[in-house]
Amino acid sequence: MHKNIVVAVDGPAGSGKSSVSKEVAKRAGLQYIDSGALYRAITLYVLKHCGEQFTRDDVCRLLGDIQLKQVFNNDGSCTTYCNGLDVSETIRNETVATHIGKISDIVAVREYVNMLMRMWAKDHAIIVDGRDIGTVVFPDADIKIYLDATVEERALRRAREYAQKGKNIDVNELKMHIARRDQQDMNRPYGALKKAHDAVYIDTSAMTQQEVIDYIYSLVRNVMI
Ligand code: C5P
Repeated sequence: MHKNIVVAVDGPAGSGKSSVSKEVAKRAGLQYIDSGALYRAITLYVLKHCGEQFTRDDVCRLLGDIQLKQVFNNDGSCTTYCNGLDVSETIRNETVATHIGKISDIVAVREYVNMLMRMWAKDHAIIVDGRDIGTVVFPDADIKIYLDATVEERALRRAREYAQKGKNIDVNELKMHIARRDQQDMNRPYGALKKAHDAVYIDTSAMTQQEVIDYIYSLVRNVMI
């Protein structure tokens, strides 16, 4: 048995954090936590109850009514439940994406999400992906990774994902969205996206997904031995 290790994977949108983290989790027998999905689930709940004109007070009031749960399944997928309802698909919609920045800027929301993840980490060896995992949530994580890729490459990857689902989205439009999200994520007053000083920096622009997985897995295995 190894101790409950924590692997923190941070990086901008489209850098491949979630796909890579899920694969490493499967291989190393870790639980995977998708912190972005937790922020998305809160955003979905707020939109459902207050519409798009919600205030900060609305969000803080509603936080007390929200119960979140995440399950990492044997097939390597991750299911997010909000008050018992599977919201894994609905949280990926455009309206959630439009409003999530405003909600994840709220310190009370961030503290709530961080508290949940720290509680889950007590009982499991975990790999968590997000923006501030290695800097704020788990500053003592056993392994910290900062995954990066150029905006062009990240937009291309997103375009390929959409194409697989039968949707044709203009790459330049995706580039604009990604650049805007980077700005928002990097300039948040609390919990901003930044590389922890002791994180391993991996530029994945010219790497295959398998190469990234193998590399991170080798780091994890060294800690687990
Ligand atoms: O990872 P994902 O793209 O699903 O995250 C969606 C949004 O949730 C991010 O753009 C960011 O605004 C927010 N987020 C955050 N902190 C995290 C993870 C996600 O603020 N640790």
